Amino acid sequence: MNYISSRGKVEVKQASEVIKMGISPDGGLFCPEQIPIFLNNPDIIKRFQSLDYKGIAQVVFSMFLSDFDEYDIEKCINEAYSKDKFDTSYITPLVKLGDSSYVLELWHGPTAAFKDIALQILPHFMTTALKKTGEDKEIVILVATSGDTGKAALEGFKDVKGTKIIVFYPQEGVSEVQRLQMITQAGENTHVVAISGNFDDAQTAVKKMFVDQDFSSELKKKNYKLSSANSINWGRLLPQVVYYIYAYFSLVKAKEISMGEKLNIVVPTGNFGNILAAFYAKKMGLPINRLICASNTNNILTDFINTGVYDCNRPFYKTVSPSMDILISSNLERLLFELSGHDYYIIRSWMGDLSSNNRYKVDKGMLSKIQRIFWADYASDQETLDTIKDVYKEFNYLMDTHTAVAVNVLKKYIAQTKDNTKTVIASTASPFKFADDVLKAIYEDGCAKVSSEYEMINILSKKTGVPIPEGLRDLDEKEILHDASCNKNNFKQTVKDILSV
Ligand SMILES: *Cc1c(COP(=O)(O)O)cnc(C)c1O
Repeated sequence: MNYISSRGKVEVKQASEVIKMGISPDGGLFCPEQIPIFLNNPDIIKRFQSLDYKGIAQVVFSMFLSDFDEYDIEKCINEAYSKDKFDTSYITPLVKLGDSSYVLELWHGPTAAFKDIALQILPHFMTTALKKTGEDKEIVILVATSGDTGKAALEGFKDVKGTKIIVFYPQEGVSEVQRLQMITQAGENTHVVAISGNFDDAQTAVKKMFVDQDFSSELKKKNYKLSSANSINWGRLLPQVVYYIYAYFSLVKAKEISMGEKLNIVVPTGNFGNILAAFYAKKMGLPINRLICASNTNNILTDFINTGVYDCNRPFYKTVSPSMDILISSNLERLLFELSGHDYYIIRSWMGDLSSNNRYKVDKGMLSKIQRIFWADYASDQETLDTIKDVYKEFNYLMDTHTAVAVNVLKKYIAQTKDNTKTVIASTASPFKFADDVLKAIYEDGCAKVSSEYEMINILSKKTGVPIPEGLRDLDEKEILHDASCNKNNFKQTVKDILSV
C-alpha cells in the first residue's frame, strides 16, 4: 500500500518511510492512498471471529504495512502486546454497562492510558522501518504531550537502539501523577522538558521543527533525523484501528450483537486520533452507525461538527480531563482529506486559513458528509464528575474523567436522537491516573484533604477495593531524573543542547 500527503506536495511513499518520517515535509499528514474494504467479506468475517487480539492485528497490519514482512510484523506484535506489558491477554477487554453499552478498556498497558496500545508497538515498527530503509542516522523522536502520550512514548522508546526521545510537556497542564510518571522515567536515551505554555504551544513548536529545512540539515550533519510519536505519525494511528475491530468481533462472539448489526462508538476526543481510527475501521467495512465525538469545555470539535466552522479564537480551559485540553486537533486534517476525496487544494486552503487566521470554514457539502457520520457534544467538569458518581452508584463501575466525558455525551446523544443502537464507549485511562478528581466525584465530603495527589491513589484503592495498576504504584518513591525546562521561544535551542549540536 502507498501513502500520500494530505497537502499533495511530496511523492508517494511506502509505509516504512512514512513511519520513519512521522509528518510529511510539506506540513501535511500521510494517509493511505486507498483504504482496503474487507470487513464486509464473509470469509474474512468468519475468520475474524476465531482470532484473538494479536491475530486481528496481524491481518490489519499486513494490509497497511505491505512493505513489511509478515514475520517482522508478527515479531513487532509479540514484543508489544506481551504478558509483561499488558495485564490482560485480551489487551483491550470489554465491560458491559447496562443493557446496551460496552466499555472498551484501553488502559491495561504499562502507563495506564490508551496511548500504550500504539506506543508499545510504534518503536518496533520504527526499528523495523529503519532496517528496511537502510537508515544510518540516529532517529530523534520529538513528542508534544498533553500528559499521557509523553509517558507512553518514553516507556515505548526507552533504550530502543538507534533512537533518542525528547518529550515536551506543559508545566501547568498535566496532573501530578502524569508529571511524576514522566520525570522519574528511566532509560539512557530519554529526555523530558517542562514548557511554560500549553499543549497547543508545544505541538505547534514541534510541528514547526519538523518542517524547518535549515534545522533538519544542521541535525543531519551530526547524523540525526527527526521523527514523531504523536498521532500525526501513521504508525500511531494504525494500531488503534485494531481495537475497534476486535471489540466488534468480541461482541459478535459473545452473542451480544449479531453479525452485521451496526454499533455506535463514543470517543472522548482531543487530537482526533482515537476517533479517526474508528472512522478508518468504518471505512474498512466494519458495521458502524454513528461516531460520537465527546469533548470537554474545550469544545471546538463540538462547534465544528455542528456548524462547519473551526475557530481557535476562544479561551483555553484547564479541565478535569486534561488529556483533552486541546484546541488544534491535528488529525482532523486527515478526516477532511478522506472525505474530500483526496482534494489537496481544498486542504491547503483550509489549513492556510487556520495558520493565518486561526480559523477555517468548510463548505456545506463537506459539513453534511461529516454530519452523516459524526455527532458531537461536550460535558462540563461538573457533568463529568456527576457522571463518575452516577455510574459508580448504579453499576459499581469506576471510571476516569475522560471516559466519563464520553458517557455523559452518550447520554445526551440518546436523549436527543432516541437512537438505541448498541454502543461501544472508548475508555481511555485508568481511574487511578486521575485519582484526585475521581475521589472528589465519588466522595464529595468523605475524603480528608491530603497533601499530595499521589496519596489519593492509595485512598481510592482502599475505599473502592479496586487494585492500583502496576505502573502507578510507588511513583512517589522513584528518583526524579529529569528537571529541564524551556519556554515556547527556545525549543530549538533546547533540542540542540540535548543533542550537543
Ligand atoms: C490522549 C487522550 C485522549 C484524547 O485522544 P485523541 O486521540 O487525542 O483524541 C483522551 N483521553 C485520554 C486519557 C488521553 O490520554
